Amino acid sequence: MASKNFRRPTNYKKSTPLTEHGTQQAGQVALSLVIPVFNEADSLDSFLSRIDEVFQTQALIDLELVFINDGSTDTTLERLLERQRQDSRLRIVDLSRNFGKEAALSAGLQMAGGQIVVPIDADLQDPPEVILQMIERWREGYEVVLGHRVSRRSDTWAKSTSAHWFYRLHNRIAEQPLPENVGDFRLMDRCVVDALLTLPESRRFMKGLFAWVGFRTTHVDYERPERVAGQSKFNGWRLWNFALEGITSFSTEPLRIWTYLGATVSLVSFAFAMFIVLRTLIHGVDLPGYASLMVAVTFLGGLQLIGIGVLGEYLGRTYIESKRRPVFLVRRVYDPKD
Ligand code: UDP
Ligand code: MG
Repeated sequence: MASKNFRRPTNYKKSTPLTEHGTQQAGQVALSLVIPVFNEADSLDSFLSRIDEVFQTQALIDLELVFINDGSTDTTLERLLERQRQDSRLRIVDLSRNFGKEAALSAGLQMAGGQIVVPIDADLQDPPEVILQMIERWREGYEVVLGHRVSRRSDTWAKSTSAHWFYRLHNRIAEQPLPENVGDFRLMDRCVVDALLTLPESRRFMKGLFAWVGFRTTHVDYERPERVAGQSKFNGWRLWNFALEGITSFSTEPLRIWTYLGATVSLVSFAFAMFIVLRTLIHGVDLPGYASLMVAVTFLGGLQLIGIGVLGEYLGRTYIESKRRPVFLVRRVYDPKD
């Protein structure tokens, strides 16, 4: 009776109960692959032929390939355009410069039109056949299907150990834990992509944003192979900065540490001062302790510098966010129909 007085948002999808495989969301599905590419001219051919191998026989999947050329300086764009002439599934977004993988992914999610979207690397480290398993899980009613790496054998020891410690630290202090051994390779339902697109921040740590939005999530396991061609674009320094970005994006805990550390150091100094006063009272004036003085001065100096550094990190983020600059700039979008 009064129901027409309730105004409901219309853009939310109707809920799909978790059901037996195939009974929900069966039939034709539009899949967008989002592929950020930065100097990947050597991997493109192998990537596209693997995609063809996997999806040729899948009559129920309408495929769209959204390539984001993230300021490549090699022939990546030319090769893509060449392929697009024969292959109308390619959509190419050419960014005005290298904005980094996170920004390129954001651009891709914005351009992708599919009912389900899967970000995937161009170097075949994310095996395309895993997507078929992901789609099966999605048909069961899950909205996010993570690609979970069962081994990091293709990574160096240093990379996998530092990654492990990063996750431990991050998950201890951030509100939403990041699943370990999970990259950007994942299936997302349209509702998840739309949710991600509403997040306004311009510094985008995608793994954190993915975790933050939530939704019904499951995972499929896969072995991560070696890169087909070329070199990884993430060296040690870039990964370190990436980790800092992750931690400061999703937690203000590091700011709070200074309160506790400051309090502890002050208490210890106070106890030490009492000790010196008592000792002077009992034993008389001692020779001035140059060494302990220096230690105290430099130690506290160091602590203060680190504290200022942490404050600066957050202040810097606030500054950059406050400028409200776009995450990326597009030079041109090449649609197959053009
Ligand atoms: N990539 C990008 N912009 C960058 C760096 C990387 O678009 O600034 C792309 C790259 O072309 C590849 C994917 O991101 O498709 C993953 O990069 P990479 O293989 O170097 O990373 P790793 O697998 O070593 O973590
Ligand atoms: Mg790679």
